[in-house]
This record gives sequence, C-alpha cells and structure tokens, in this order.
Amino acid sequence: MPCNKQKSIAILGSTGSIGVSTLEIVAAFPERYRVVSLSAGGNIKLLKEQIARFKPEVVAVADAAAAQRLREEMVNGGPSILSGPEGLTQCATHVDAEMVVSAIVGAAGLVPTMAAVRAGKDIALANKEILVAAGELFMDEVERQNVRLIPVDSEHSAIFQSLAGQRGQDVRRLILTASGGPFRNTTFADLQQVKPVDALAHPNWEMGQKITIDSATMMNKGLEVIEARWLFNLPAEQIAVHIHPQSIVHSLVEYCDGAMIAQLGVPDMKTPIAYALSWPERLPLEQNPLDLCRCGDLSFSTPDLERFPCLGLAYQALEVGGTCPAVMNAANEIAVAAFLQERISFLQIPAVIAQVMENHKAVSVTEITQVLAADSWGRQRAEHIITQGVVR
Ligand code: NAD
Ligand code: MG
Repeated sequence: MPCNKQKSIAILGSTGSIGVSTLEIVAAFPERYRVVSLSAGGNIKLLKEQIARFKPEVVAVADAAAAQRLREEMVNGGPSILSGPEGLTQCATHVDAEMVVSAIVGAAGLVPTMAAVRAGKDIALANKEILVAAGELFMDEVERQNVRLIPVDSEHSAIFQSLAGQRGQDVRRLILTASGGPFRNTTFADLQQVKPVDALAHPNWEMGQKITIDSATMMNKGLEVIEARWLFNLPAEQIAVHIHPQSIVHSLVEYCDGAMIAQLGVPDMKTPIAYALSWPERLPLEQNPLDLCRCGDLSFSTPDLERFPCLGLAYQALEVGGTCPAVMNAANEIAVAAFLQERISFLQIPAVIAQVMENHKAVSVTEITQVLAADSWGRQRAEHIITQGVVR
C-alpha cells in the first residue's frame, strides 16, 4: 500500500522528452510518487523498460498490433495493455490517479486530457497544443471540475511562480522569453536553405522533434502566447515576447507599479516538471544551481516577425478566435512533419499555415467535436496544399 504522502500519477506520453524527465523525478522520489498508468505512441522498447521499473497497472500504446505483441511478452502478469484512443483515455482516467502528466505532443493529447479533467484529476500540463486548440472549453471544464491545472512549460511555470501571492488585477503584462532558436541570427536568404538537421540543433534545450522545429520557426512562442492567454486569463495585448538567448530568465510578470517579478534558473525541464508534481512544495533536485556570477550577460530584444512570421500568425489566430487557433495548430503539425520529411522548405512552414488560415472560415466553439472537426479540416487542407505543390 502506498504511504499517505505518496501521490499516484498517470503519464500520457511517457516515452517522450517530458515523459522521461518526469519518470526520472519519480525514480528520485519513490516515497513521494507512484506511477499507476503510462502511455506511449511509439518506442515500445523504452516503454518495456519503464513498465519493468515503475510497474504501472495500466499501459496504453497507439497501435493495436503493438499492444498485442506487448501482451504476449508480459509473462507473469504485468499491467493491462490497452490501445488506441480508448486506451489513452483509460490511462488518463485510471481510478487511482490523482494527477495526470499530459505530455503527448500535439492535438492528439486533447481528448484524453479533457477526459482526465472530467474525471476530476489534477493536471500537470506540458501539452500546450491542447490550450491552443481548445483553450476556452478546456479552462471552463477545469473550473467546472475544480481541478488543479499546473503548467509544466518553463515560461508558464515561471509566470505561475511570479504570480504567487499577487493580485490578478495588478498585472500589467506577462513577458514570455524566447531563446530565438538556432536561427536567431540567420538572414532571411539563408533561412531558405536550412535543413531539418540544422533546425533540430537547438542551442539551449533538449526536446522532442516537433517542439524543436517549432522553436526554430518561433511557432513554439506563438503557441505559448495562446497557452498563456488561457492559463492566466489575460488578453493578447497583455502578453509580450522578448528574445533572451541565454534562456536563464524563464519569463516575467510586470505589475502596474512597474515592478517586474521573474523566475530564473538553468535551462532544465526537470525544475518546472518537479514543481508541477510537488506544488506548493519544492523538491530538493540534484542539479547544478544557476551561478549568476558565471552565467555571463543576460540580454533581451524584440522578436523579428519578418523572419519568424509564425509568431505573428499565432497572435492573428488568437484575434480571430473560435476554431482559428485549432486550424493553425493542425496546419503547423502537418507542415512541421512535411519539413522533417524534406517535402517542404523551412520558410514554407509559415506559408502553408498562413494559406490554411486564409482558407478557413472560423466559427465560435461550444463543443469539443467542433474543435476536432476544425483540427481535422486544418490537417487535410495543409496536406492538400503540400501534396499539390501549391505552397505560395
Ligand atoms: P516527444 O515527441 O519527445 O514525446 C511525445 C510523447 O507523446 C511520446 O511518448 C510519444 O510516443 C507520444 N505520442 C506522440 N503522438 C502520440 C499519439 N498520437 N498518441 C499517443 N501518444 C503519442 O515530445 P516532448 O518534447 O516530450 O513534448 C511533449 C509536449 O510537451 C509537447 O506538447 C511540447 O510542446 C510540450 N513541451 C515540451 C518541452 C520539452 O522540453 N520537451 C518543454 C515544454 C513543453
Ligand atoms: Mg516553453
């Protein structure tokens, strides 16, 4: 039996970058955390190691055939192995789970995470695409179910920490910092030539492929502006982005008296993940602390929307509202995958998204089915533009 202080957690996306870091924290604090369910889209080899080590009761994988193979290998009992969207939802709503770490990449995380909220689970949210696609609906459900939603994204964790003990009405602006990615100093002409291998070489953070490309196009910051809009209930005009190449100041809140409160640290996702798991306590992580006397100068500048139009597209999607952000997100997911397969160039990523957004007639959203339909429409439209070779 778990001791009283032990928190039971479910992890959606356990084989990814955030999932693996989450399990490292669980392994370092076994008296505090117990894993009840895990889910993964791929990397069954790693999933098997996780099952052997963390002994979850339920495991979900995307593919039914992979689930069957896994079942056959699980001699002497082992967890229940489920598959497909239903499996993911079962994993997210496991009866014993107190908190769900939502770390699937993309809009695929929306349905199971919403199910977790409806089942009354607290959420540690890494999957920003959920709030981009369905921010208002998701936050309404969080409020209705009275669950805790704690951000894992480092900028939002920084803002969450910088808001603690303050009054919401005193906030003037949120300032999200962005490293600027690998192409911060690359000219527009040179951006035309960049390849996936260049875009995957992020200067400061080690992350999954999709978010690494999003960082290179700065769509990641665009998605984060929308994420902040819903998490902190502030309009886009009160959310600014500063380029900060050192990734030391993780984000800031500016108050009405001119005071700014920021959270600083080395760029390591374990800090915000641990904080989401342990809030309001802090875990004693074994990590080299930030040495301010040695980290060099900290610099800040405004982003260049000409070279990085994705950031502007995200503000535009937020302004249009309704289904527009879901469509933008879907088009981005398809365009990023196509760039990784070298089917389109780097600068065609924003071009595809802009074209899909132009073609879309946004409608307001009251049901999750409308979001899923918009997501699916955006994917098809983007795929059509790419396969027909009609990217402008
Ligand atoms: P990743 O690609 O490393 O891992 C994604 C995980 O989701 C894997 O376990 C994968 O198997 C699973 N998955 C993918 N598609 C799936 C599907 N259709 N169905 C079921 N499972 C699926 O991604 P990541 O870098 O860990 O990022 C996860 C999320 O966290 C993203 O939304 C990202 O934007 C966000 N995030 C990541 C970081 C980071 O440092 N990696 C930082 C902040 C926010
Ligand atoms: Mg971030």
